[in-house]
Amino acid sequence: MAVDTASELRKVQLVIAGKLVDAAEGETFESVNPATGKAWATIAKASNEDVDRAVAAARKAFDEGPWPRMQPFARGRVLAKMADLMRERADEIGELEAQDTGKPLARARGEILASAMVFDYYAGAGDKFFGETIPFGEDALSMTLREPLGVCAQIVPWNFPFMMSAWKLGPALAAGCTLILKPASNTPVTAQILGEIAYEAGVPEGVVNVLPGPGGQIGEYLASHPLIDKVAFTGETETGAKILKASADTIKKVSLELGGKSPNIVFADADMEKAAAAAVGGAFGNSGQVCTARTRLFLDKGQYDNFMNLIVDQTESFKVGDPMADDTLMGPVISDAQWERVNAYVEIGRNEGAEVVYGGARPSALNDGYFYQPTIFAQASNDMRIAREEIFGPVLTVIPFDDVDDVIKMANQNDYGLAGSVWSQDINKALRVAKGVRTGMMSVNGSGSAGVFGPFGGYKKSGIGRELGMHGLELYTQVKSIHIDLS
Ligand code: NAD
Repeated sequence: MAVDTASELRKVQLVIAGKLVDAAEGETFESVNPATGKAWATIAKASNEDVDRAVAAARKAFDEGPWPRMQPFARGRVLAKMADLMRERADEIGELEAQDTGKPLARARGEILASAMVFDYYAGAGDKFFGETIPFGEDALSMTLREPLGVCAQIVPWNFPFMMSAWKLGPALAAGCTLILKPASNTPVTAQILGEIAYEAGVPEGVVNVLPGPGGQIGEYLASHPLIDKVAFTGETETGAKILKASADTIKKVSLELGGKSPNIVFADADMEKAAAAAVGGAFGNSGQVCTARTRLFLDKGQYDNFMNLIVDQTESFKVGDPMADDTLMGPVISDAQWERVNAYVEIGRNEGAEVVYGGARPSALNDGYFYQPTIFAQASNDMRIAREEIFGPVLTVIPFDDVDDVIKMANQNDYGLAGSVWSQDINKALRVAKGVRTGMMSVNGSGSAGVFGPFGGYKKSGIGRELGMHGLELYTQVKSIHIDLS
């Protein structure tokens, strides 16, 4: 990656067959720093012609190259080296990520280290994901093999650009696939570095390709491309549906990580201080641009006022500001369009009759960039649009509830089913709720998850398939059954 001295903009290229190249048509686009509203990088803009070049390289690497054929343990050594390189470059990549996304620097750096951990995990996982033997008596031997799936298109969103890419590349590479990564157009900068790191660590030519470019054009083209075996996508539910349609004619394997409207359920007997801190972090961290953000807070009527006071206090100290400053907890939202979307939803919430008890506008001291106050709606109902639809910004909708059955029912009255939390000292009650809520992930008395070690993904319109953990390898392998007649 170079700095274009004529324009002072950072220059980002495509990665095709292990080389940094310009787009075939020579086109570029700019990436904007959301904290300033100004362009800071110029990016090669891939077209369908570049997709064809990258697919040809990935196809050749899969059909003829060593990567799918080598011992999984040997592939693991390359992944381990990638993890080391990410750690070595974490300060540099974290700073670029903070500029491209507007997220606080410490958070951005943490995501690079978390990405390295994904590679550590899959470095040791590929040789532990094996087939089975099926008992058949003495006249036959029957077994299954886990074979690499093939050439994968991997399309990622802008909220965690490097980390979402790591979630995709780690298991795909461990399984022996080759791939084309398409970063989001709002945050295209760090994906090239992931490509650089892959080749520096030793992946063979063509195994990793990186193509920034417009999703509506090259994303759809990737999803429909006859020489691609699989598409793995993270992004909005509507885009996921388009990808399913685009990939239908070629019968691609498809995995989808989509949107969410995750419930956070707090009973009157919960540890209130702990639950309040998690409610605020879970709604406003990364400016609320998190698929698992706990954006519907269900509060037990028995402690409603007390808990509201706690979360408003905590939100007041949730510092919004310059992503590069040490004490900043929340930066801007990603773009002008996203700012307008968030603001429009706040207006919708007001018109629906919910009460803004905190925020609801641009912070007074932050006139440049796309900053929005953390915003809390109180006394909302579960059928309001601000409770049903994914806003993808720092907006928390608080809904009172009566009892266990009432809250499970409300939590489930939603199209999404990604994640959720429940807080109660009564573990039976908490587990009844954790089992009753139809989401792919639930946290009990905390907001954590199993991270790289466990499955990540959603029920209902939140997706298809599970990333991370050993489940992540299922997305990039297929099962072959071999039956040997010994008679
Ligand atoms: P998006 O759907 O607009 O874009 C995601 C990616 O798809 C981008 O790279 C984009 O260029 C590309 N794309 C756009 N249109 C396309 C098309 N027609 N065909 C193929 N590709 C296309 O999503 P976003 O705004 O970047 O990200 C926010 C969304 O991502 C939210 O809905 C959020 O919940 C979701 N998300 C989900 C998870 C999860 O794991 N479930 C994680 C992070 C984000």
